[in-house]
Amino acid sequence: MDYVSTRNKERKVSAAYAIANGIAPDGGLYCPTAFPALTDADWKTLAESDYKGRSALILGKFLTDFTAEELADFASKAYADEKFGGADTAPVVKLGEGKNLLELWHGPTCAFKDMALQMLPHLLTASLRKTGETRTACILVATSGDTGKAALDGFHDVPGTKIMVYYPVDGVSPMQKLQMVTQEGKNVEVVAIRGNFDDAQSAVKRIFTDEDTRAALDKDGMMLSSANSINWGRLAPQIAYYVSAYCDMVAAGTIAQGDKINVCVPTGNFGNILAAYIAKKMGLPVNKFICASNRNNVLTDFFKKGGEYNRNRDFFTTTSPSMDILISSNLERLLFFASDFNDKLVAELMGKLNTEGSYKVAEDVFAKIEAEFDAGCCDDSHAADTINKLWKDENYLCDTHTAVAVRVYEDYRARTGDETPTVIASTASPFKFCRSVIEALGGTLENDDVTQLEVLSQLTGVPAPAPLAALAGKTPRFDRVVDKADILSTVGLLKDL
Ligand SMILES: *Cc1c(COP(=O)(O)O)cnc(C)c1O
Repeated sequence: MDYVSTRNKERKVSAAYAIANGIAPDGGLYCPTAFPALTDADWKTLAESDYKGRSALILGKFLTDFTAEELADFASKAYADEKFGGADTAPVVKLGEGKNLLELWHGPTCAFKDMALQMLPHLLTASLRKTGETRTACILVATSGDTGKAALDGFHDVPGTKIMVYYPVDGVSPMQKLQMVTQEGKNVEVVAIRGNFDDAQSAVKRIFTDEDTRAALDKDGMMLSSANSINWGRLAPQIAYYVSAYCDMVAAGTIAQGDKINVCVPTGNFGNILAAYIAKKMGLPVNKFICASNRNNVLTDFFKKGGEYNRNRDFFTTTSPSMDILISSNLERLLFFASDFNDKLVAELMGKLNTEGSYKVAEDVFAKIEAEFDAGCCDDSHAADTINKLWKDENYLCDTHTAVAVRVYEDYRARTGDETPTVIASTASPFKFCRSVIEALGGTLENDDVTQLEVLSQLTGVPAPAPLAALAGKTPRFDRVVDKADILSTVGLLKDL
């Protein structure tokens, strides 16, 4: 399988090359040039496999320069039972009125990013080997909170790699910050940026496209790579859990093989929902994708207002910080796919986004997108109501991001009357956003963030995840804060790791 940039499909590269390099030199995102189909035999194998087997099978369809043995080995390590609290890596919890919560947060950092970032270090180190790369891969990560910790956990002390994480100084939850600044490992660095997530992401993109920086790193035997969802190696592992959820729903009798489902995803950078879209292209029977946003509803407007994307708007800090994003990077891949791989068109739109902060998709392309996607948004108070109601009515405790998706799904169902069983991505443990969840339940807040875990636990009788409880007593290691204008100067830190 060949990969090309969304902005120039002339130059074809291997999966290993795309993963090792993260982003294309023209600033575009690497994409497969075709969608491999799941055969009847594949579906039979998938149904009989555990999550590790399902992941290896799906990855094998895309990563054709990796052997089946390699991928099986990576999957068994990445999704080891001791890392995900058992063999049920991504369980589906069936609730009322068509809701099927796909819990993606049983990994070591309690957010769905682990599903990809426990796999990525295996894919990346193998990709470096396969492409004959001898330099140290320096992984730069812009995070709205969850990616940073998941990437640190995945890459710490992985030979041949260094990792540097940038997070917005006031844009992450206290628990997210604590998780990052207490990270152990010799090859890690964590930097706070004055600004929001978009500032951090743009700054990291600037490092990637700065020729002088690349040359200087090269001289010191280093190269840049990415663990954000712009990296295909980050996106590919996410496809498997939608297919896995479908198999589990068939096994549970919720649906019959071949029945359609909807997929509703709390969305920020558009990576998670795009993985579901790719699963559909492989043959997963999906009726509608429902894109859920918080008050930063640039995507809702895009889908609801005829394909006009406009980031020129106020940025809000919300109780679902991992979705506080105005530039959804992976929408670029959707445009590429929906326009039948039209690189010229994508390059033009992305150019406009860069210079004007907005663009409008051609009508014929948007018509295709509109046929498959619905969208909605939900503010903090409705998200809090949803956490409260879900707990009281269905005894299900969810986090703020998941609550946004549940609410948007309920609105969609009421508006359209569509009763198709719906997979709702549950993207973080409620304990990761303790304060907001305790407030939503009407509990009393404590000052100390680790003590909050016990408060929520006592309030609900649900035990706090062990990796979060273990943060008590850990000493922060990183306290550097820089202006976004000075981000290039932080690259020098990599040398000393
Ligand atoms: C990252 C994240 C999201 C958004 O996912 P995207 O792939 O960026 O759209 C939603 N919820 C949580 C908890 C996250 O960590």
